[in-house]
Amino acid sequence: MNINSNNKGGMDIRQLFLRHVAQTSPNPLGIEIARAEGIYLYDPSGKAYIDLIGGISVCNTGHRHPRIVQAIKDQADQYLHVLVYGELIQSPQVRYATLLAAHLPAALNSVYFTNSGAEATEGAMKLAKRVTGRTEIVAFDQSYHGSTQGALSIMGDEYWRNAYRPLLPGVRHVRYNDPGSLEWITDRTACVIAETVQAERGIYTPDKSWMKALRRRCDETGALLVLDEIQAGFGRTGKLWGFENYDVVPDILLLGKALGGGMPLGAFIADKERMWALTGDPVLGHITTFGGHPVCCAAGLASLEVLLEEKWMGEVTRKEALFRRLLVHPAIRDIRSCGLLMAVEFDSFETNKRVIDKCIERGVLTDWYLFAPQCMRIAPPLPITEEEIGKACEIILSCIGGS
Ligand code: PLP
Repeated sequence: MNINSNNKGGMDIRQLFLRHVAQTSPNPLGIEIARAEGIYLYDPSGKAYIDLIGGISVCNTGHRHPRIVQAIKDQADQYLHVLVYGELIQSPQVRYATLLAAHLPAALNSVYFTNSGAEATEGAMKLAKRVTGRTEIVAFDQSYHGSTQGALSIMGDEYWRNAYRPLLPGVRHVRYNDPGSLEWITDRTACVIAETVQAERGIYTPDKSWMKALRRRCDETGALLVLDEIQAGFGRTGKLWGFENYDVVPDILLLGKALGGGMPLGAFIADKERMWALTGDPVLGHITTFGGHPVCCAAGLASLEVLLEEKWMGEVTRKEALFRRLLVHPAIRDIRSCGLLMAVEFDSFETNKRVIDKCIERGVLTDWYLFAPQCMRIAPPLPITEEEIGKACEIILSCIGGS
């Protein structure tokens, strides 16, 4: 297809994609998407793909839920961007922050909206430094908190970190879910940043006792506990928030991905008293032009309302169990899961990639985890039905069988 008159070479859209859209992967999936609806993506020929990754834990309420699409249209009819963050009263921001606070513990009452998850991570690190007057940060091996330089500094994988040194000083990486690692949290630690589920490691959940000990150690030392729910939040684990699985409450909560209902939005959330640290000396302690964009907040608000009204969260555990029951094959070495956040482990990346490629050919979209390339990612939109799970698993098993 010659997509416009400047396209003198007559390149098709795939060639133009490879030439003009900056590439981060040497082998992008490169499927052209014509539309998306519910749990399905469609290419221009009308071929349907069951979306087993939901835009990487973004589309928890499905693609283009009608309430979200309507909220976007309604907000576009009112106003788009009006001014940098925090000056004007924009009702989608106010209403969304209010609804979030109503469904969070009392100490998480002040929402700073950002453009992305990484920017939420950055904001939280800055806030922790200001609140505590300390500079050291404790993070965990094989954690992922974003790709900007601050977030990269706390990423728990040397392969991705190393090429971009020098990074932030004062960061210590320790072992996740290891009681011994808590000793590294001291009265010099500004904050400890942990995922409630280590997703990119291939789905590792910590012990409840360890999470509680982590909370206690932070309280003893005065370090702030930052929990990253950017991937695990919004019902994916079967609870609205991942931290509810451990009976702990963070000092700062990081949200992103599903927060925007399919639009770009992140947030770091803390107590108002603490959040004041970004308001003075210097003023404007964290600045963003587009953070909390009104259309994104309107979409996110509609998405959370839908999630709270629907029964999907209550069905997560049953659907997780169904996946686990159906995905049985000698080539599957392990399945780790926390709700509909699942990793299906093979012997190698090569096996996994072969299965993934075949799945895509047969209309099931999946991929692998950043730090666990031998693990297939399963994180579908939460409304996926049992019948659709059955069909997806049948295709996966047939692709393993023939691989
Ligand atoms: N934190 C976690 C746990 C994530 O999974 C991600 C993205 O995958 C991020 C932070 C970064 O979010 P973003 O890609 O929106 O910057």
